[in-house]
Amino acid sequence: MAHIVIVGASTGGMPAAYEIRDTLGPGHRLTVVNPSDTFSFVPSNPWVAVGWRKRSDTCFPIAPYLKKRDIDFIAQAVTEIQPDDNKVLLADGQQLSYDYLVIATGPKLAFDEIEGFGPHGNTESICTIDHAEKAHESWQKFVADPGPIVVGATQGASCFGPAYEFAFIMDADLRKRRLRSKVPMTYVTSEPYIGHLGLGGVGDSKTMLESELRQHHVKWICNAKVLRVEPGKMFVAEHDEKGEVIREHELPFKYSMMLPAFKGVDAVAKVGDKLVNPRGFVKVDEFQRNPAWKNIYSVGVCIAIPPVEATPVPTGTPKTGYMIESMVTAVAHNIRDDIAGKPVSERGTWNAICLADMGDTGIAFVAIPQIPPRNVTWMKKGKWVHLGKVAYEKYFLRKMKKGSSDPIYEKYLLKALGITRLQEEPKSKVG
Ligand SMILES: Cc1cc2nc3c(=O)[nH]c(=O)nc-3n(C[C@H](O)[C@H](O)[C@H](O)COP(=O)(O)OP(=O)(O)OC[C@H]3O[C@@H](n4cnc5c(N)ncnc54)[C@H](O)[C@@H]3O)c2cc1C
Repeated sequence: MAHIVIVGASTGGMPAAYEIRDTLGPGHRLTVVNPSDTFSFVPSNPWVAVGWRKRSDTCFPIAPYLKKRDIDFIAQAVTEIQPDDNKVLLADGQQLSYDYLVIATGPKLAFDEIEGFGPHGNTESICTIDHAEKAHESWQKFVADPGPIVVGATQGASCFGPAYEFAFIMDADLRKRRLRSKVPMTYVTSEPYIGHLGLGGVGDSKTMLESELRQHHVKWICNAKVLRVEPGKMFVAEHDEKGEVIREHELPFKYSMMLPAFKGVDAVAKVGDKLVNPRGFVKVDEFQRNPAWKNIYSVGVCIAIPPVEATPVPTGTPKTGYMIESMVTAVAHNIRDDIAGKPVSERGTWNAICLADMGDTGIAFVAIPQIPPRNVTWMKKGKWVHLGKVAYEKYFLRKMKKGSSDPIYEKYLLKALGITRLQEEPKSKVG
């Protein structure tokens, strides 16, 4: 019997637990460790921030649902990983031995890299449910006394989709309140151009998102580095394509939300360079396995992926939900094969499917594979995307409560669209 320990219980960790249980069957022990005892659906956080959702709509207790699938749960943070001894230490002093470790710890939010930045400083965040609730408190004060908004993503950020989403959601909420005319909005981003998304663009994302920002009266500054944030004022250096500063801006705001750069969480980062890269992200091979300790796998935002391309102001590559689920499927299959003494062979497709809500409409994109050049790439706008995102939220929460990570109808529906989780051999002949 193998003991598989999964660290983190969010978009990566919860599906990993279910899929490993499905793939291994009974007879192996699974334990999930997460600091909070509740699951939180991160993509709903922009809605929480404007008051369209409450914590109770998007969060639920983890333990009872994992228990139904015979998966143990410990509500503690892992404080140390001892890979040579196959052991993790927990915040309450417990030790947990493992045969396989799956690291799904997401990001550490690097607010500290910019003076005055973040929810303990002068800007809001939607990265966690606690941050989103705080952002909502500030939003209520803001709508009582509106003024300029600065929204976007800082240098080193990789998660640009939610920055655009939140800009359009705030715009929609303000229009509903008939306050939009009182709110000048500026989108500030480290992306080299609008619609880059950390992906070198997807389809015609540049034209489409520029047009949307224009139509929603949102100005923008690209190649932007945030220098510091004071109460009500952001100091930004705009760069040219050579990375030289061409202009400095002092942007006044009454409300600001900027996505930060990500790093690896401390417990993982401190293991050192055999496990992580200089930013603390877990090094994995094509099978999601750490090259130094082959019984350590990793999925989600915490893995090391190089940027799609060098940009004048540093940007990272986003790790989106379906891409993460494809990593999960590869890990489940590879652990099964390793237990059986077979060579591991499965590689996730890392396909990106994204639904970006705009409050009353939305933009969907598919990038296969996520890293260009791509076999498939498209981007479309419509009210169906907004409805699709709402449906996806309900669907994902239900899937996590039912304890299934890849329901059969999802598998067939996406396969019909040519979207699969595991890589197949490329076809040399077509037709
Ligand atoms: C606001 C926002 C909106 C997003 N919207 C979308 C979207 O619409 N579509 C999409 O495809 N992607 C979206 N993403 C990107 C991505 O899908 C999410 O960030 C996703 O939640 C990442 O999952 P994860 O499991 O890797 O990390 P996280 O969701 O960050 O989860 C990590 C988990 O590990 C736990 N953890 C951390 N440290 C430890 C420790 N030491 N010990 C134990 N546990 C630990 C954390 O508490 C957390 O529960 C969004 C991201 C953000 C920030």
